[in-house]
Amino acid sequence: DTIGANLDRAVATWPEREALVDVPSGRRWTYAQFGADVDELASALLASGVAKGDRVGIWAVNCPEWVLVQYATARIGAIMVNINPAYRTHEVEYVLNQAGISLLFASLSHKTSDYRAMVDEVRVRCRELREVVYIGDPSWQALLGRAVPDAVHPELSCDDPINIQYTSGTTGFPKGATLSHHNILNNGYFVGELIAYSEQDRICIPVPFYHCFGMVMGNLAATSHGACMVIPAPSFDPAATLRAVQQEGCTSLYGVPTMFIAELNLPDFATYDLSSLRTGIMAGSPCPVEVMKRVVAEMHMAEVSICYGMTETSPVSLQTRRDDDLEHRTGTVGRVLPHIEVKVVDPATGVTQPRGTAGELCTRGYSVMLGYWNEPEKTAEAVDQGRWMHTGDLATMREDGYVEIVGRIKDMIIRGGENIYPREIEEFLYAHPKIADVQVVGVPHERYGEEVLACVIPRDPADPPTLEELRGFCEGRLAHYKVPSRLKILDAFPMTVSGKVRKVELRETYAGD
Ligand code: ATP
Ligand code: MG
Repeated sequence: DTIGANLDRAVATWPEREALVDVPSGRRWTYAQFGADVDELASALLASGVAKGDRVGIWAVNCPEWVLVQYATARIGAIMVNINPAYRTHEVEYVLNQAGISLLFASLSHKTSDYRAMVDEVRVRCRELREVVYIGDPSWQALLGRAVPDAVHPELSCDDPINIQYTSGTTGFPKGATLSHHNILNNGYFVGELIAYSEQDRICIPVPFYHCFGMVMGNLAATSHGACMVIPAPSFDPAATLRAVQQEGCTSLYGVPTMFIAELNLPDFATYDLSSLRTGIMAGSPCPVEVMKRVVAEMHMAEVSICYGMTETSPVSLQTRRDDDLEHRTGTVGRVLPHIEVKVVDPATGVTQPRGTAGELCTRGYSVMLGYWNEPEKTAEAVDQGRWMHTGDLATMREDGYVEIVGRIKDMIIRGGENIYPREIEEFLYAHPKIADVQVVGVPHERYGEEVLACVIPRDPADPPTLEELRGFCEGRLAHYKVPSRLKILDAFPMTVSGKVRKVELRETYAGD
């Protein structure tokens, strides 16, 4: 199916069910209304000269219009380009030109970001940009005014590119993955199947739509099952998220681990009624065991799913199942999704490793991207001749088919010839009573090549742990070479907009001192 055809079916099946709720503005759409608004916007885009294959950018924080643009562009076969709302002039100019965007949708402003002023600044240097439409501005109404009732739609195929999504930029400069209807619609559908979504479900989506977590695992999983998308706030706000769950009776809640940590740490956490929740998805980076236990027990998310994926694979390839026990839900990222293959290979030789031995995780199937936009060399480095996507993650396949993520190849610390996986040390330190959050990275060391640095956010800023305390905590319980030799106390980590810690930045910032 194309995304448009799939939406038509949802509209026909559940016309009166709620499709979309924007909590900040109180606006609501049933599937019938949502389908009609998507059609109107699609027709307006056609009337504005947007043809199949043209790039339409969206540079906006979460709002209902983001979702309308997502479905309207797919409906006419235009290629929607997700632009990170945290970008500034230099970066947005790069994306507008790299992707050759002709029409741009943008937020007017959010917090300290004045999108209109930034667009005005770069516009003269963006050759292909013809029109900019601001959300919540007369230019949006003017665009809709061009819609005609019986617009002629182009022929579409499931394999057409319809979306360019940039990776999070956790390890360097983001790359633009080009994806088809087939890629992301199927992935959203299967992720929703494994969670057993139905038209009874209401999904609270505090993760950015800009990233695949929001727009695929959120929006496409919802609309392919008749569930409702609930937007708690334009950008992540832990209190607004829990309020939305309570007010809207959400059954499912999404987040990367750092978001769940922020929600659990709210001083008034216990006052929210979260009893409507049954499930949710935690993904994007490893989840500490202690956090998972609290999510299950205190947030009522007994069926919470862990997903592993990457932008380049639409995104999800591995997922825990509803009835998996806590051990599988914390120790592993689940089993492979239907119609996807995974293997673990020796990064040096490419030979498949026996079960239980770590190596690079590779995935193959309908979910692998068409390629990086306009970057054939980078595509060839990531996707091999056999169509296997090389993830850059180290993993182990257990005997029972569950996969453990050991860490990123790029984050592995090599100290005096010993391989150290930061995740193991982070898990261990997480149990320290003075530590609220912790990241472990390798920094250069004259004699050992690298040494272990622990970056800690203390529970009580007035009483941070000392290096001696940390070392004492590890002594006799971790091998000596894994024990951090340096400590940095911070009040926050450098983050990507998808909520991941930029270890590369921690490494660079604290390399020298
Ligand atoms: P970039 O490729 O630009 O450096 P990125 O890899 O973080 O950024 P994404 O595509 O958003 O960009 O994220 C995919 C990566 O996130 C995976 O390769 C993996 O390292 C990590 N990841 C995703 N899910 C999980 C998970 N459940 N557990 C551990 N790591 C995960
Ligand atoms: Mg990546």
